[in-house]
Amino acid sequence: MGIAVVVGGGCSGVFATRELLRAGWQVVLVDPGARPGRGLAYGTADPWHLLNSPVAAMSADPDRPEEFLDWCRARAPRTAPGDFVPRTWYGDYLTDTLLAADRGAPGRLTVQRGRVARIFDSGGTAPGRLTVLLTDDVVINADHVVLALGHPAPGTPARLDPALNSSPAYLADPWRPGALAALPEGPVLLIGTGLTAVDVALTLSRTGRHHALTAVSRHGLLPQPHRRPGVPGAPVDPADLAALPVGSPAALVRALRELATRTGDWRAVMDALRPRWDTLWQGLSEPDQHRFLRHLARYWEVHRHRMAPPIADTIDGLLAHGTLTVTAAELCGLAAEDSGVRAVLRERRTGAVVSSSYAAVVNCTGPGRLVESDRLVRSLIADGMARPGPHRLGLDTDASGAVLRRDGSTGRTLWTLGPTRRGRLWETTAAPEIRAQARTLALAVGTARVAVPVRVDS
Ligand SMILES: Cc1cc2nc3c(=O)[nH]c(=O)nc-3n(C[C@H](O)[C@H](O)[C@H](O)COP(=O)(O)OP(=O)(O)OC[C@H]3O[C@@H](n4cnc5c(N)ncnc54)[C@H](O)[C@@H]3O)c2cc1C
Repeated sequence: MGIAVVVGGGCSGVFATRELLRAGWQVVLVDPGARPGRGLAYGTADPWHLLNSPVAAMSADPDRPEEFLDWCRARAPRTAPGDFVPRTWYGDYLTDTLLAADRGAPGRLTVQRGRVARIFDSGGTAPGRLTVLLTDDVVINADHVVLALGHPAPGTPARLDPALNSSPAYLADPWRPGALAALPEGPVLLIGTGLTAVDVALTLSRTGRHHALTAVSRHGLLPQPHRRPGVPGAPVDPADLAALPVGSPAALVRALRELATRTGDWRAVMDALRPRWDTLWQGLSEPDQHRFLRHLARYWEVHRHRMAPPIADTIDGLLAHGTLTVTAAELCGLAAEDSGVRAVLRERRTGAVVSSSYAAVVNCTGPGRLVESDRLVRSLIADGMARPGPHRLGLDTDASGAVLRRDGSTGRTLWTLGPTRRGRLWETTAAPEIRAQARTLALAVGTARVAVPVRVDS
């Protein structure tokens, strides 16, 4: 077997590396971090940031669903399958997973610290092979490259005064290590009310320096909490799911509402739907997918990506004490002032335009658009080696994760998994889906015939 380069050492990179090592490949894992295996979600150092999935859902190994539970019990023997443990634990678990994969394949894993700048088709010199160039001029030749790039940096909110880009009062990326600690003291505006805003509110409320936090989004919706441990769910009849209508977002939502009312447990409906969701998503036309993204995605997100119950309790406490306020409003402007930032908001309910000063503003809008913001992705698209997927949310791929070129063919040498596949897939960011993709991808890499382009779409 040959050499596979995995670009990115987050959860997707670790899962892909482990599957490729198991399949007999020599693997070079490239990541800029000092401790590969953690990535964006699990690199957080704050112990109050919990996983938003229960322990039982988070095994890295599709063949051993209890692996993460066992790992947690070695650290805390009373851990239950429904517990929500700190995300740092999961980062440690991923590091251990990588170490175990290395031990199981002696001499076949190299971890290269660095950032990939370009990937080239080696062309006439070595047909079917790829050349991977790192920003520090290191060059790696590969038979296969797997892009495990994860989430792009957050996008820039509309109507941002450009002067704020260089102001300490505006934080463009709250995931940058240490960035929140450097915010000026005083009231803070969080743009966004999703899981990123929840993370930021939890951290800022503990510093004792920010007693008034305002989170704003058009809908003003916080993520829903998970069902509390010990509270039984109502099972969903698989026949009901099989009967869901494919083809129209409105009909689908009506059917889901009806099912949730009938069973009395919308959480069970959302969870049962998860393995079916991509079939339903792909059954929608692109205009209907667009309608879903525009009108329904936010409602779907708050029901699907839920808060751990202890996190929901803390957020309820912050709301009750007035430390956190959540507002449904449109952001009309953000301008730098001497003492911070002036924000102009149009309240959704009343239409009133309100102008207020904040010591700082934090962009909590979540991951941005990969196709626009990632330099490596932009260069691959410019070179015709990749093309944007539906709605430009990620890269276009075939069913196994092979990246499609500009003309819709695939050389089956460049692959991807995880959040990079968003758009072609919808359920592609959480650990259970990524571990299944890693398995499928490694099997496909093993059967790929190098240098035989495969036409996928036309
Ligand atoms: C805050 C947060 C909490 C979450 N909690 C959960 C949860 O509880 N349960 C769950 O199932 N899912 C959760 N998720 C979903 C999460 O997306 C996935 O579980 C997973 O972390 C995605 O991993 P990834 O490796 O694709 O991306 P990332 O973790 O973003 O890792 C990508 C890595 O690639 C590196 N990289 C990028 N470009 C290059 C390049 N050019 N060269 C080299 N390296 C590069 C980055 O530096 C990074 O280390 C959460 C997500 C977030 C953001």
